[in-house]
Amino acid sequence: MRAWVAQNGLVCPGWQREAHPADDLTADHVVPPGAGGSEAGELRVLCRSCNSARGASMADRRVPGLDIVLVAGPACAGKNTYVREHADPEDLVLDLDALNAAMSLAGPRVHIPAHLPFVCEARDAVLERLLLGGHQVRRCWVISTAPERARREHYRRRYGARVVVLWWPEETCLLRAMSERPPEWQQYVRQWFDRYEPDPEDTVLRNWQATGEERAG
Ligand SMILES: [Zn+2]
Repeated sequence: MRAWVAQNGLVCPGWQREAHPADDLTADHVVPPGAGGSEAGELRVLCRSCNSARGASMADRRVPGLDIVLVAGPACAGKNTYVREHADPEDLVLDLDALNAAMSLAGPRVHIPAHLPFVCEARDAVLERLLLGGHQVRRCWVISTAPERARREHYRRRYGARVVVLWWPEETCLLRAMSERPPEWQQYVRQWFDRYEPDPEDTVLRNWQATGEERAG
């Protein structure tokens, strides 16, 4: 920001309008850290009014009649089961674990850290494509742990998503991880609870249990 002002003065480059003088400049990440960008990532300087216009125009990209639901929560909280119980066969389902398994031969539930950015990009490419419209998809479920508030807020702002957080006590998730998952999953559970930031905008379902079939993960 200092570099911008030193070079250009108190001028906003404008969001879908001409550059103009502004004394309320803000610096925003082009790709928000909550959406996979890095804290040190590229910044865009805009005045407050242009910055909120940019936020609104992102929200305007929503496709009428398209329902995007982010199902968040710790590992072993039943996110998959929840989607299975609520989704129709013609719904799109973007499950990071399933995409991860589809993109390597490492086997289900084995996460290779170097793959993660690519798996996330594949998921985001589908979401971006959905926003372009001209398709028959009416609903898309995104399954992601998303413990950070900013990450869930990003789904709301950019995709107009509803956010459902499935929450069970940490001990319950740990017990399930111990009996059902590779050992490193206990660490995933602990990390989620360490990083979780509640948000009143989320619909939090505590101790949600499937009514129909048995838990499938
Ligand atoms: Zn401006």
